Amino acid sequence: MTVHEITSYLEQWAPLTYAEDFDNVGLLVGDNTQKVTGVLVSHDSLETVVDEAIAEKCNLIICFHPIIFQGLKRVTSNTYVERAVIKAVKNDIAIYAIHTALDVKLDGVNKGLADALKLQNRKVLIPSKGSLLKLNTYVPNQNLNDVQNALFAAGAGSLGTYAECSFTYEGKGSFKPLEGSNPYVGTKEKRHSEVETLLQVVLPKHCKNTVVDALKNTHPYETVAYELTVLENIRTDLGMGCAGTLPKPLSEQIFLKNLKELLGTPCIRHSALLGKKIERIGILGGSGSFAIDAAKQDNCDAFITADMKYHDFFKGEKSCLLVDVGHFESEQFTKKIILEVLRKNFPNFAFISSKTDTNPVHYF
Ligand SMILES: [Zn+2]
Repeated sequence: MTVHEITSYLEQWAPLTYAEDFDNVGLLVGDNTQKVTGVLVSHDSLETVVDEAIAEKCNLIICFHPIIFQGLKRVTSNTYVERAVIKAVKNDIAIYAIHTALDVKLDGVNKGLADALKLQNRKVLIPSKGSLLKLNTYVPNQNLNDVQNALFAAGAGSLGTYAECSFTYEGKGSFKPLEGSNPYVGTKEKRHSEVETLLQVVLPKHCKNTVVDALKNTHPYETVAYELTVLENIRTDLGMGCAGTLPKPLSEQIFLKNLKELLGTPCIRHSALLGKKIERIGILGGSGSFAIDAAKQDNCDAFITADMKYHDFFKGEKSCLLVDVGHFESEQFTKKIILEVLRKNFPNFAFISSKTDTNPVHYF
């Protein structure tokens, strides 16, 4: 199996177009066509993780955080990033990062902690906008079925629990084939009118290329007229953070004690106790202070995240207990989730869970 075969499967599950604009996801080091001897799944891809990959005879590291985040202007051995990249390149080890492409999925980063807390009635805390596109195209009537079928097969036309959704409207298209053209219908240098159907479908952003290719391959015209527009529609199945309800309300003290045990951490920081039962929980693994308001709007009694600053702890006011469990700790289940997805699809292939502790934060 090649690097591409494994990572393209991951991309069907967590499309890279879901990643935030600031992020740097996908294949960061290595050759897509390289045959894979084994895969090491890790949280970070530090030099020590590359050492582990060498020892385990793995030449592909799939990690959550991208080791190259900002541009690299030189590759010497001066920084931990450069040393990891150099060691990977010298040893023919590819590095692939998934990061925020997984953050926005309900079965992504937050799933492990939500499962551990047995959260029920889960929903996305901040639903995604702008991840849906609308395609308008104009098809001669006799080709309408073929084009519709091709677009649906390529991933267009899904709305919630409905597939093959489209809208059609019959009208008349006009065009004048110019010198150098090879028109399917009509005569060169003469305006031609053709009865056509306006076909409209929605599609997720990550299917854009396959849908446009399918359109061009099935539409009979030499030059296919189409428009793609980004929709502001909200997708409730996709977005940052997750909210859900505990099986039964807990006191704040018991909730915090359980959380420490579930995360295996000696210390968590939290805002002042509110003297109320905790039942509705918001989670955003990693740096999630930006979602405090969303958690409050969702009536969360507690919001679990990381990297909160001093002033952030005031923002829960009297309604929401804010809990900073540590960045690594809040994302620690991600490795297991990636491994489960890979092992399920490639049952006969070696996927190894990294044992290297990459958490840079220590407690005294
Ligand atoms: Zn993170």
